Amino acid sequence: MKKVAILGKCKAGLVEVPDPKPKEDWALVKVQAAPMCTEYKAFLAGKKTEYLGHEAVGEVVEVAQPCKVKVGDRVVVMPQYPCGKCQLCISGDYIHCENSYNFAKFIGSREGSATMAQYILKPSWLLPLIPDGISYEHASLALCALGPTFGALNLMNVGPFDTMLITGAGAVGLGGVVNARFRGARVIVAEFHPWRVKKARELGAEVVVDPRDEGCANQIKSLTNGIGVDKAMDCSGTVKAHRLCIDATRRKGHITFVGECSEETPIRISPDMIRKGLTLHGSWHYNLSLFPDVMKVIRNSPLIDKLMSHVFPMSKIQEAFEVSASHDCAKIILKPWE
Ligand SMILES: [Zn+2]
Ligand SMILES: [Zn+2]
Repeated sequence: MKKVAILGKCKAGLVEVPDPKPKEDWALVKVQAAPMCTEYKAFLAGKKTEYLGHEAVGEVVEVAQPCKVKVGDRVVVMPQYPCGKCQLCISGDYIHCENSYNFAKFIGSREGSATMAQYILKPSWLLPLIPDGISYEHASLALCALGPTFGALNLMNVGPFDTMLITGAGAVGLGGVVNARFRGARVIVAEFHPWRVKKARELGAEVVVDPRDEGCANQIKSLTNGIGVDKAMDCSGTVKAHRLCIDATRRKGHITFVGECSEETPIRISPDMIRKGLTLHGSWHYNLSLFPDVMKVIRNSPLIDKLMSHVFPMSKIQEAFEVSASHDCAKIILKPWE
């Protein structure tokens, strides 16, 4: 099969490797759409790797034994290789599993572990079926485009009475706007990249504020009768945005952190937490039991096409990475067989 490799600084191409083989209750999926995520960072840094991507949808083409899917099924390939046995896995919160498979040890090779490729291997219980009438491209938005923020909004029970702040309008934050609008919330976005500001407005953000402005938190408060937003969600992974979420959220409000960040964010316990009565959450992805609801957003949101800014044949991977690195994009989808 063909798969994507980063060959040097800002240089990507395709390499040929042996087709992977399924084992036990795992299935082989022919990848029909593979959304790009944060892989552009390795592209910019010239970090040579050929195991790229964690988002895919496709068709089951081979199983090793009778399992939860059959050949011909159209499926979403859920992320990670969780054990399937621990309490978190059984409850559907598999994304937090601490006993993930050692893929190479189990399969005997690393081939089939990355999504920016023509085939991928996955335990069959992590291959929920795509409902009839939903295309592969649309279904692929059930991964990082809509997934992390769907989980976050579900956690905070966001609804039509809420005003919501979303900091960072990359592909995840823009997916957050789609999810929040689907739930009827009023949306304020904090973003400064011009392409993304425009896109956030197009997707239904009522106001887009510039997080670099000194008075940004006060500006958001003035949009909410001086009280602050009911709920906030950070999709930027920056310490400054964490602070903006805390300062711009009302007393007894909720905040969920979605954007990855390994720096320390200072929190002042009395003014930020005790006096305000804030609730802070972390959200990585959504519980597997919510998959049918994510499909409802995909089927019924009028904004869904606008979330996919580019579709590239995988053979044009260099161009796809250049667009991804420019940030002038929402979700970019690769077609591995074109
Ligand atoms: Zn587990
Ligand atoms: Zn992703």
